[in-house]
Amino acid sequence: MKIICIGRNYAEHAKEMKSEVPTEPVFFMKPETALVRDNMPFYLPDFSNDMHHEVELVVRISKTGKNIDEQYAHKYYDEISVGIDFTARDLQMECKKKGLPWEKAKAFDNSAPIGKFISKKSVADTNAINFHLDINGKTVQKGNTKDLLFSFDKIIAYVSKYVTLKTGDLIYTGTPEGVGQVKVGDKLTCYLENENLLQFEIK
Ligand code: MG
Repeated sequence: MKIICIGRNYAEHAKEMKSEVPTEPVFFMKPETALVRDNMPFYLPDFSNDMHHEVELVVRISKTGKNIDEQYAHKYYDEISVGIDFTARDLQMECKKKGLPWEKAKAFDNSAPIGKFISKKSVADTNAINFHLDINGKTVQKGNTKDLLFSFDKIIAYVSKYVTLKTGDLIYTGTPEGVGQVKVGDKLTCYLENENLLQFEIK
């Protein structure tokens, strides 16, 4: 399986990063070794001094597809969860400055904690899902999919032009504004609407 991540998919986050608001989706990938399941802790790696949280809704691909038409894209995912796209912001800034790819800042092992999946059917409207991240009981990021620059269906159509999607692939759909640094001892809790789907500690 593979993990596809969408960058700059909420305008306010693009602004806080002083990035342009994109006119087409920006995507990158993480390897399977990025996943952290079952609320296991996240260990701060020693290669970064500025590890940032990015809370994101994650969709799970449910059948193989290539060149998927946007109007059928909803048939290609069946479950949704919440995850963190951990980003070594200091390394990413270096890469951006040099015009290099972001992989070492984004795709390192354990950079993608993932929560418990729920059925898409249990969500009333996938274009109006609230989600948020609390750190030590305080809300630091919150988003709603109505503010996505590119909807789940648009993302699936776009990515599948370039990369075949397969059952079990995950798409991290982008983070809203409010990204920031995590520290040892922080307790992160991620909610889809009011349901806690992921909680873990920084070590
Ligand atoms: Mg992200």
